Amino acid sequence: MDNCLFCKIIAGDIPSTKVYEDEYVYAFRDINPQAPVHILVVPKAHIACADAVDEGNSLYVAKCFEAIAKIAKAEGLDSGYRVINNCGEDGGQTVMHLHFHILGGVKLSDKML
Ligand code: AMP
Ligand code: ZN
Repeated sequence: MDNCLFCKIIAGDIPSTKVYEDEYVYAFRDINPQAPVHILVVPKAHIACADAVDEGNSLYVAKCFEAIAKIAKAEGLDSGYRVINNCGEDGGQTVMHLHFHILGGVKLSDKML
């Protein structure tokens, strides 16, 4: 997808600090970390947001969550972590390529739920 920041990062056109990659998933450190560990897990297919997940692309979402479990172990997040997805304008999504934030490395506060 032209003009998508995360597609450009996946393609290597914009630099990132990679922490994990496989056929379906790319993961890298957030440029503005909100916790000691803050990693973005993105599908290699351009899926705009959670609202655009359907039968044709949901394998990418499953693969993201498989990657999240691997990354959490590799990062030593043994006592837990938070996974966040912001969807759309009201959800606070700023990059319109589906992504999951992994936040951890500290006891997190500010729970909404
Ligand atoms: P969201 O607000 O859920 O759409 O999250 C977008 C995230 O992308 C934010 O946490 C940003 O800090 C992060 N971000 C934006 N540009 C970059 C970049 N070039 N490299 C890494 N993370 C980025
Ligand atoms: Zn994209």
